[in-house]
Amino acid sequence: MEKIVSLCKRRGFIFQSSEIYGGLNGCWDYGPLGVELKRNVKDYWWRVMVRERDDVVGMDGAILMSRAVWKASGHEETFTDPMVDCRTCKVRLRADQLPEKHGVKQCPNCGGKDLTEPRAFNLMFKTFIGATEDENSVTYLRPETAQSIFVQFKNVLDTARKKLPFGIAQIGKAFRNEINPRNYIFRSREFEQMELEYFCRPEQGMEFLEYWKEERIKFYENIGLSREKLHVLTVPDTDRAFYSKGTYDIEYDFPFGRQELEGVAYRTDYDLKQHQGASGKPLDYFDEETKQRFIPHVVEPSAGVDRTVLALLCNAYDEETVTDEKGKSETRIVMRFHPRIAPVKVGVFPLLKNNEQLVSKAREIVALLRPQMNVFYDETGAIGRRYRRQDEAGTPFGVTVDFETLGEKDQALLDTVTLRHRDSMKQERVKISELASVLLPQVQ
Ligand code: ATP
Repeated sequence: MEKIVSLCKRRGFIFQSSEIYGGLNGCWDYGPLGVELKRNVKDYWWRVMVRERDDVVGMDGAILMSRAVWKASGHEETFTDPMVDCRTCKVRLRADQLPEKHGVKQCPNCGGKDLTEPRAFNLMFKTFIGATEDENSVTYLRPETAQSIFVQFKNVLDTARKKLPFGIAQIGKAFRNEINPRNYIFRSREFEQMELEYFCRPEQGMEFLEYWKEERIKFYENIGLSREKLHVLTVPDTDRAFYSKGTYDIEYDFPFGRQELEGVAYRTDYDLKQHQGASGKPLDYFDEETKQRFIPHVVEPSAGVDRTVLALLCNAYDEETVTDEKGKSETRIVMRFHPRIAPVKVGVFPLLKNNEQLVSKAREIVALLRPQMNVFYDETGAIGRRYRRQDEAGTPFGVTVDFETLGEKDQALLDTVTLRHRDSMKQERVKISELASVLLPQVQ
């Protein structure tokens, strides 16, 4: 893990929030490469979950909502983790994550066994709306995006004119005042979720639970996570929310252990029923065919953007020993991202920076490819060094403009470039006019 964290800082994937002031625990900033990686994850999710489907529409709800929402959903009362204090070193800990020695729970910080009884700690960040800070102005930063979907169910249904089964999808920030943020960006206090609420008839709930579990695994495979490192946990009855009839956790083998990436839960009609009851507004569905009116059931695949990014970073990191033509060996660090989610798709390099013809040809290629993909132009340093820099950024392709491109050695090679593949380091000669059509299908 340290190697990944260090590469992420060195190459501008992820920085600690407020670093120059000593950092803010549980909050992270994404740098130039990180933001592209994260955006590619969200864009691909949106593409396959919303744009390429007839039965799903999107929305983008506000982070702040009426306090009444959190009362009705049960979050104000029960969105808690059990917390204990270590009386020896005074740290606060999650009671359900304490290590045990000979059956006795211990403080992971000092090894002390003098712990308080667990008490419920609400994970929502409280805030005040407006100029007066009193009980009437209290609300919370949302701890999940799902509730705005439930609350807007009727508006979306009426305007999108969808029939069951159909879904509403959303990507957005969520906040939880985690007792122990840890494992880098895995458990943060501010993070992003990609959630789908898929509404269906009651008798279809279990079937769609299976369907979405399978679809979601395909998603992770399609962004390059190794199938052997992905696992499905059937959440046991005792650990499931009381309203859920079935829940799967999709897990990934992180370097710090097997942990949840996403929950896929059949939530029955709990959420809509709660909001209908509390608001007094109907949130039901009228079935034209059967002339029945009922509250739809819902299956929810709920994924974390940051956890997905972390899995991608862990999955991509690789070190290998390479030997150059002179027999010199060195370690090559390479991020083997799937081209689809790689932050930069192609690096374009003129062989020499002080040759005007090489530079202008390289600039032409940048202009040609840029409307279709993220391109990085680099003219400084030896070509081998430039390749290594892009290996660390996970750029799958490199295009080098050399003297052959200018037709100086062989007229037949005029307007061709060297295309270098990150993973194999193999090089081939490709016509500039064919570059976009060679690269595009691989990076989309
Ligand atoms: P955990 O048990 O790990 O706290 P959870 O079961 O409470 O997670 P859900 O409420 O199901 O999580 O949230 C759905 C998804 O949101 C999770 O699968 C995860 O990807 C993401 N998520 C939840 N909490 C955090 C967090 N503190 N930091 C980053 N991502 C999170």
